Amino acid sequence: LSTDSEVAQREAESISRKTLRSSAEKFEFQTEVSRLMDIIINSLYSNKDILLRELISNASDALDKIRFLSLTDKEVLGEGDTAKLEIQIKLDKEKKILSIRDRGIGMIKEDLIKNLGTIAKSGTSAFVEKMQSGGDLNLIGQFGVGFYSVYLVADYVEVVSKHNDDKQYVVYVWESKADGSFAISEDTWNEPLGRGTEIRLHLRDEAKEYLEEDKLKDLVKKYSEFINFPIYLWSTKE
Ligand code: ADP
Ligand code: MG
Repeated sequence: LSTDSEVAQREAESISRKTLRSSAEKFEFQTEVSRLMDIIINSLYSNKDILLRELISNASDALDKIRFLSLTDKEVLGEGDTAKLEIQIKLDKEKKILSIRDRGIGMIKEDLIKNLGTIAKSGTSAFVEKMQSGGDLNLIGQFGVGFYSVYLVADYVEVVSKHNDDKQYVVYVWESKADGSFAISEDTWNEPLGRGTEIRLHLRDEAKEYLEEDKLKDLVKKYSEFINFPIYLWSTKE
């Protein structure tokens, strides 16, 4: 078991990193997914706010899933499970990271590989076609590829996740600079993550506004209307 200070140090290293973990396993994005990401990265679309809507909706879906499981399985969300069903948004002004964390169902390694890169959904190529003929990026969620909107504001993204079923406290990390490939590696924190998923957006210089509390408060208000879980927002000092 790691000591608290070791855990804290690993977290600090991970959060401040700008380069992919060297020991990680590398994967190529499926072609259509890669094309979609190129479109998003190079988009001049001004309504970048929608990425918050997509991340809040994914977090809410993950929380719905664990709550639904708990209806039929008493072990799920049982006595020893103290993680609240909530969404936490953190603004790290110093490191320029916007993160959103949920205490939902989480993802196993295979989920990260399939859901975030190697399996294209039917909506992927449909959305790419729509965009090539001048379609509105705002519709991204309806095509089932909302996650990739993170690259409207970030040039490097980490998805840190622990699935509820994984009792070994193995946390997996997905990371990509949207350059055609992504990487997966293992982390061994038992805390601070616990069950659930944290998406860390390393913001591009022109997207610094997403570290402003007032802006984020407004966005959370706007996009939480139909969300049934509390959303907390906090920030670290500059
Ligand atoms: P959609 O939400 O329409 O399925 P997305 O592109 O937003 O499409 O997300 C792709 C998939 O990635 C989701 O279906 C889900 O399996 C997985 N996923 C994304 N975010 C999370 C999260 N916070 N927790 C668990 N799974 C997630
Ligand atoms: Mg979604």
